[in-house]
Amino acid sequence: MNKRGKVLIVSGSAGSGKSTVLTPFKDGGVEPFRFSVSATTRVPRKGEIDGRDYLFVSHKEFEEMIEKGELLEHAVFNKNYYGTPKAPVERLMEEGKVVILEIEVDGAEQVMSAFDDEDIISVFLSPPDYKTLEARLRARGTNTEEDILERLERAKVEITYARLYKNILINYDNRSEEVTRAIVDIVNGIDPKGLDIYCENSVELEKRFYKN
Ligand code: 5GP
Repeated sequence: MNKRGKVLIVSGSAGSGKSTVLTPFKDGGVEPFRFSVSATTRVPRKGEIDGRDYLFVSHKEFEEMIEKGELLEHAVFNKNYYGTPKAPVERLMEEGKVVILEIEVDGAEQVMSAFDDEDIISVFLSPPDYKTLEARLRARGTNTEEDILERLERAKVEITYARLYKNILINYDNRSEEVTRAIVDIVNGIDPKGLDIYCENSVELEKRFYKN
């Protein structure tokens, strides 16, 4: 029989580089990691596939999932619902997998209270500082000024949730591979404290984030 797996919560604001850091884990690329596929009411972006990137559902369908207790957690983000279907997470855990939940902070808080501490590994991913975050959001070139300002404000709020996470990692420019490796190490029980991408606590994170 497999040893029961774990849930790996990864949160981070827009511009934290979450998806780059997590890309190697996609499609079973690294054992024993698997992605949880979230349900959402937002419209698919170009290239996104229903059932792989998200389960794209209507508002009504999402609310039915809530009513039936099918979601492990859910939250509203940018006026859309996002939630984690419970059954696949349970199944993957039974199979001994480490189930990645790439979710925002409200949902993360719900998952943290739904599981025992020993079943959860949590990582908060942050850009190095406010200026870098702003530069990254502007470099995308696809967002309006209003959108950029909204994301910056949201990032400031999300950072205040970092204290809930066992591990805070900083994603410096061009160093996402180190973050990916640190996540693997953390899951394998290796202490990340010596790494310079590791941040001791949320107070230190805020100091670094607002340093300039
Ligand atoms: P996006 O629309 O850019 O894919 O995701 C927006 C935000 O929703 C991101 O912070 C992402 O991590 C978060 N998110 C994605 N899926 C879920 C989910 O199932 N639950 C929660 N709470 N947040 C999610």
